[in-house]
Amino acid sequence: MPKILMLDCKQEISSFNPLPSEYSNFHVIRGDRMLDHRGLNTEVAGALAIFDGRGDVEVIPTIAARAGSAGLLSAAGWAKLSGEILEAVAARADEADAVYASMHGAMGAEGELDPEGFLLTEVRRMIGPDTPLVLSLDLHGICTDRMLRQIDGLTLYHTYPHVDFADTGARAARLLLRLLDGEVRPVIARVVMPALVRGDELVTATGCYGDLIRECQRIERDDTALAAGIMIGNPFTDVPELCSQVLVTCDGDAETARAEALRLAAEFWPQRHRMQGKLIALDRAIAQARTMRGPVIFTDAADATSSGATGDSNAIVKALRAAGYPGRVLAQIVDPAAAAAAHAAGVGATIRTTLGGAMDPARYPPMEVEAQVRLLSDGQARLETMGTPLDAGPSAVLAFANFTIVVLSRTVSLFDRALYYSNGCNPRDFDLTVVKSPHTEFHMYDAWVEKNFNIDAPGATSADLPSLGHTICARPMFPMEPDATFTPEAVLYARSGG
Ligand SMILES: [Zn+2]
Repeated sequence: MPKILMLDCKQEISSFNPLPSEYSNFHVIRGDRMLDHRGLNTEVAGALAIFDGRGDVEVIPTIAARAGSAGLLSAAGWAKLSGEILEAVAARADEADAVYASMHGAMGAEGELDPEGFLLTEVRRMIGPDTPLVLSLDLHGICTDRMLRQIDGLTLYHTYPHVDFADTGARAARLLLRLLDGEVRPVIARVVMPALVRGDELVTATGCYGDLIRECQRIERDDTALAAGIMIGNPFTDVPELCSQVLVTCDGDAETARAEALRLAAEFWPQRHRMQGKLIALDRAIAQARTMRGPVIFTDAADATSSGATGDSNAIVKALRAAGYPGRVLAQIVDPAAAAAAHAAGVGATIRTTLGGAMDPARYPPMEVEAQVRLLSDGQARLETMGTPLDAGPSAVLAFANFTIVVLSRTVSLFDRALYYSNGCNPRDFDLTVVKSPHTEFHMYDAWVEKNFNIDAPGATSADLPSLGHTICARPMFPMEPDATFTPEAVLYARSGG
């Protein structure tokens, strides 16, 4: 019975987060514990469902290492992480007839700015040139030339906000089985576009990016392509190959892969101007919010923890307080010292503490508050969409004046309402909620708020991309260089064994 080796390694970093990630940021599971993914909305779960359904293949689960988004991984952290991953794969590589690798694509480590490329190169070395290897990536990843030279095919998320984790894993698994059966000979066409994009037009259900993704899905469904997608990179991961790119995989038909990839790129490029964040100044947003019945949300995409920011921004809360905004405000701030002070004092106590700037004090000078401790928690929650666990560490709800602040000890994804709910706060009970994610699923906020203000605030993941100071990615790059030009060119990848 053919054996399929599985590995999983995911993190997304912001190069503009001053705090490095460490090995301890990663939740690592080994061997059969990977099978616990069954039933979750993850790539591993989606792939397992396909392999399980087939009946005549055996799965070799090796290792899954996942970390929340954060700063660049330290050299020591990367050495330990990569060592453990390659050791786990090496222990079973001899048995593998095929490999499925689930990755994000926007990792970065001190001394290794293409961690996924390194891992895939080493895995390829272990399994030899002829063993099929299929990869899945987040559309915010950076797929490098080195990665493409190791793989036989790849599948990409088709949704943003992301909901198709399991589906992407399932598509990868089906492609891998077709390779294993000798049915297909994939050829991948890559077209790189020198543009970084952001903003509401990237929401696939409603934005112009979604129209292009639906073209990718169409050519997958009508069998023009084995897989197709458009990666936009994480614009905050400043690495040499950061870009937007079209990737089309066809069965033995290089010309079609090339033509489809070039066509999609030609449609994407002119829309780069629309695909930029449209931000409103904080004082202006506050002035408008005062005149509205509400509720409203203030989107703080500059401190988006799921894109790699620290989560300790107090910029919006500080400005609302200074402006005397009268409505009930709900916000989240990562501040382990404030959470510890609340836990030491107990529920009902009044504490004097500072809030914000715990990790990035240069951007966010701490603000002093005298607050009542309303609730204490262990910070455990589950993401609404994926069902995977979040561990924000000791957490507290602090209240002062018209402000309710959920204080977390650790930086975790805040792209849904999980940590508001798990700390007893319902955004619907407030006039203004701060959301530290560029977008959320529509039903979570946009469906019921009067307005979603996209705030221009400081942060490691600001949509004002030219303000960040990229130093490593290829230049010229739009929008840092508004006149950057695009030379349409497809590069083809095909493995001789495939
Ligand atoms: Zn993503």
